[in-house]
Amino acid sequence: MFKKILIANRGEIACRVAATARRMAIRTVAVYSDADAHANHVRACDESVYLGGSAPKDSYLRWEKILEAAKATGAEAIHPGYGFLSENEEFAQACADAGLVFIGPPPSAIKDMGLKAESKQLMEKAGVPLVPGYHGADQNPALLQREADRIGYPVLIKASAGGGGKGMRAVDKSADFAAALASCQREAINSFGDDAVLIEKYVQRPRHIEIQVFGDTHGNCVYLFERDCSVQRRHQKVLEEAPAPGMTEAMRQEMGAAAVAAAKAVKYVGAGTVEFIVEQRDGGAMNFFFMEMNTRLQVEHPVTEAITGLDLVEWQLRVAFGEPLPLQQGELRIHGHAIEARICAENPDNNFLPATGSLHVYRKPQHTAFQRSRVRIDDGVREGGEISPFYDSMIAKLIVHGSTRAEALARLDAALAQVHIVGVSTNVQFLRGILATDSFANANLDTALIERERAVLFDREPLGLPLAAAASIARALLDERATNTGDPFSRRDGWRSLGVAQRIFSFEFRGAPQSATLRYLHDGALMLAVGDVSGLLEIGRLPDGQFEVSFNGARHTLDVYANEAVAHVFAAHGATKILAIDRLAHAGDTHAEGGRLTAPMPGKVVSFAVKSGDKVAKGQPLAVMEAMKMEHTIAAPADGTVEELLYAPGDQVTEGAELLRIATPAA
Ligand code: ADP
Ligand code: ADP
Ligand code: MG
Repeated sequence: MFKKILIANRGEIACRVAATARRMAIRTVAVYSDADAHANHVRACDESVYLGGSAPKDSYLRWEKILEAAKATGAEAIHPGYGFLSENEEFAQACADAGLVFIGPPPSAIKDMGLKAESKQLMEKAGVPLVPGYHGADQNPALLQREADRIGYPVLIKASAGGGGKGMRAVDKSADFAAALASCQREAINSFGDDAVLIEKYVQRPRHIEIQVFGDTHGNCVYLFERDCSVQRRHQKVLEEAPAPGMTEAMRQEMGAAAVAAAKAVKYVGAGTVEFIVEQRDGGAMNFFFMEMNTRLQVEHPVTEAITGLDLVEWQLRVAFGEPLPLQQGELRIHGHAIEARICAENPDNNFLPATGSLHVYRKPQHTAFQRSRVRIDDGVREGGEISPFYDSMIAKLIVHGSTRAEALARLDAALAQVHIVGVSTNVQFLRGILATDSFANANLDTALIERERAVLFDREPLGLPLAAAASIARALLDERATNTGDPFSRRDGWRSLGVAQRIFSFEFRGAPQSATLRYLHDGALMLAVGDVSGLLEIGRLPDGQFEVSFNGARHTLDVYANEAVAHVFAAHGATKILAIDRLAHAGDTHAEGGRLTAPMPGKVVSFAVKSGDKVAKGQPLAVMEAMKMEHTIAAPADGTVEELLYAPGDQVTEGAELLRIATPAA
């Protein structure tokens, strides 16, 4: 086996690879950027080499530097993780030329599967079913329009070089095709440097089901069953599970055979994933069509590890070293059910805008590492660390395993309840919301699940004002008790002497001002009134720091974290935050300055949809920014006239930078 490998990646996947290497007694070399100088992946490896600046192009994409680092440290092989250089055939070739093993497929297989259009031509020859569509080389717009009309609407235009859910446009009718094509080509050239597109029939109520394949250098190839990744936002995966609900043994074998045929057609070696789009027919029948092959380890590989009990990184290392596959098809089995949730720094209620910040609090449920653990967490961050704007927004993956889907689902919900993150917005509550939908609970899966369940998924408030206020007050009172001597006459509030006294607390909750009235009764009991709820309030602190709060007929064990005046409250059934307003403090001018439009986060200006002098209406898109691998539209906050654009497309901007100025009619 290799004695030393270099891991050309960062974050959770670099930590993940390092853990298997350590278990196999293989030494590891980390590489890192400025932003990652103190990152977990650097600590997880035996040695580390500095690459350069924080932007990927200055560090993780500098492959000459990475090759030098491997040479200098005596690493024999390079694991590329996913993203960055993992699907770069030139890098794979450069490794070989430098006498290093690239832990992945041969460069020719990466190339063959690299472009969606070319790979479809190959798959057609190999007899793999394709979505009806056009994937030819001729890109004449008139021809593309005719092809779309022939396929029949709705169609999906895809950038052939696209990935990560980018470069796709759905078109409902012929009249909209030309404009959608132009915009897709623009995005494709900007993001991937190649404006070639293909057209597919837009499959209705589709499911995304993919097959994990593995090949070795001895000509063997197996499939490690399927993963259902239908729950998506912006064409990006949110929850993944294995096996796919409703999958019959016959269909599994058919899809497995098609995936193996796809892999063999490109002489595949190592871990790969063949993605299929699955059309659901009335009566439960499903048709599957090849979408693309990802020639790397996938983000969601842990669900496959959970149901097979295998370590796919170990398989990658063995295969790369030249060993045959550890098991043959007939020896592979599915055990139970696994689900993965991607915990991301983002704001689901604001169109999933990625968030950055410090992880002031980062608490996790009890977990163990790797295959077939009941609760597994793969992450690359720690409490106190930063979610920077340079890389993607995934904080952690939470993977659970159960003997049935229902058990896995319940376990995932319970585990998510114990993920406490303060300092950056996350999708944790949103994920719990998905688990609670009828669609997910009943495995009524398709890629529109989030859209369909919109009404219950967005702007959720699982805790409610009364409990949030009670928790915040409990914290304030217990803090007061802790800082006072306990002698009732020296109490700061001093209210008791009046027999019954009251205090009024002011809050801001979900953007609205609120207040609560607390009365001290003769017997020392507390009476709380919040909105139209009132009742006895009992509070206590458990030895581990948790709060016990009884109010409004229910007893709760809560975790309450204070970040300045904001209390972040975590209960078994959800979490929320509430701002305690000190009424003595000057409120200040809280009005947003009209007319300034600022970047919500550091990133790149992609385009402006307006020019100076344009009249704009409230809500109209003004500019598109790209940050953390996603595009964000910036909309007009009010009606007005554009005065000036302050940046040009392609410019990098810092958070809070003023992008454009709008004159609004004087209020
Ligand atoms: P997976 O497909 O493994 O579940 P994701 O789709 O979330 O994972 O993202 C990982 C892969 O998507 C990366 O390997 C990368 O190739 C591709 N990808 C993600 N974002 C982009 C982007 N902005 N541009 C190009 N490729 C991207
Ligand atoms: P990427 O390279 O960005 O991962 P894919 O081709 O894998 O692009 O497609 C990403 C997602 O887009 C799929 O998981 C699915 O949700 C949706 N999608 C892709 N092709 C189709 C189609 N023909 N009909 C309906 N949805 C599709
Ligand atoms: Mg894909």
